[in-house]
Amino acid sequence: MSSAPVTDPAQEELRVAALLRHAPLEFARVVYGLNDQANGRAATMAAEDVARTVRQGTPVTRERAEQRARAYLPSAGHEHCPRCWVFNGIKSPLHYREQSEERPESALCKVCGAEYVTAL
Ligand SMILES: [Zn+2]
Repeated sequence: MSSAPVTDPAQEELRVAALLRHAPLEFARVVYGLNDQANGRAATMAAEDVARTVRQGTPVTRERAEQRARAYLPSAGHEHCPRCWVFNGIKSPLHYREQSEERPESALCKVCGAEYVTAL
């Protein structure tokens, strides 16, 4: 039999709470990425994330990223990716990977490739 994941409201709250903690971290990545670029370190992961976003046609500024990080509000059951939101202003749906013995539950973004541990 298939074991469809059962999502109870308490678990959804935990997921949202965990994701909310990531928004300021993504804002910090924007700041690091912009600083790295400004200082000629274009090969860091944060700088590459900034460069990719710009290539996609979205200018990346510290101010916008900060505003978005503050406005990030995932709704339970329809969580979207903090990184795509803070960098790009787009809402990419997250896909959950159930916990196993080796690892806690995580949420994957198929757009940017980010993975977030959603257990506390
Ligand atoms: Zn994403």
